[in-house]
Amino acid sequence: MPLEGLHHITAITADAPGNVDFHVRVLGLRLVKKTVNFDEPSVYHLYYGDEVGAPGSILTFFEFPGAAPGRPGAGMVHAIRWRVGSPEALAFWEARLAAHEVPAARDGDVLLFRDPEGLAHELLVSRGADAPLVAHAPDIPAEHALQGFHGVRAYAGNPERSEPLLRALGFAREGDEAHWTLAGAERHAQLLYDPAPPEHGIQGAGTIHHVAWSAADDAELETFAAHAAAAGARATPVIDRQYFHSVYFREPSGVLFELASRDIGFAVDEPVATLGGALKLPPQHERLRPVLEQRLTPLPDPRAVA
Ligand code: ZN
Repeated sequence: MPLEGLHHITAITADAPGNVDFHVRVLGLRLVKKTVNFDEPSVYHLYYGDEVGAPGSILTFFEFPGAAPGRPGAGMVHAIRWRVGSPEALAFWEARLAAHEVPAARDGDVLLFRDPEGLAHELLVSRGADAPLVAHAPDIPAEHALQGFHGVRAYAGNPERSEPLLRALGFAREGDEAHWTLAGAERHAQLLYDPAPPEHGIQGAGTIHHVAWSAADDAELETFAAHAAAAGARATPVIDRQYFHSVYFREPSGVLFELASRDIGFAVDEPVATLGGALKLPPQHERLRPVLEQRLTPLPDPRAVA
């Protein structure tokens, strides 16, 4: 089976409380998992998404308290594109962002804004048949809510280098530009390459660390990792991320890709009704809980801030 569009996007924040406030209170996403960076468990890994944490809606942040602001450059994803349901929804967001003192600008059919740490977002009206992936924020009418990812924009110096790998993963090119679509049976995602700025990128607060494409299960991870390897990528073994299994490799333009499986999900260690409510730790880090609960930055109650 093909990959089913985007699974999740992972970025970096220096300010976990501010990050919760923006994504839950302003954007209306649900905090669906509060855990730690499995590779560095002294800091948070926060996951936002739709009401059930569906792949295709998951935006995650590694917290590095006090990290310097980053700057996107060649080989980095620099903008997240979200779907909304209608032109009226775009108008709703234009007004809502203004009310929350978030500068936003219209560029034709797209609404552009940045999060408090400078990460770029774009909202555009969905024209496809993918099911909307919506969270139930109390002050956002369901018909205006964000509906999940449409795609991402990356910077590349020579995006043609990425073509063999993208084709091996099932991406198809749209027209002559370096614009690609990953079409699954149910979900579609776009990968747009933009000319890279002259300055090199700096991975820091407000930048995107990697993007994950959606695979069904371990068998598909192995299959697509083999396709990637045949196209020249150096893929990791399958890694257990508790809520999905993952394979990582860098694509030839430099963007860190992950393939993540859909067959586990965020309800594996807490009920859907209370997703994101408690600090969840994977078994290998559970012994650190007393220390972590003392040291991690206190967070606002996510739905209380909404
Ligand atoms: Zn990831």
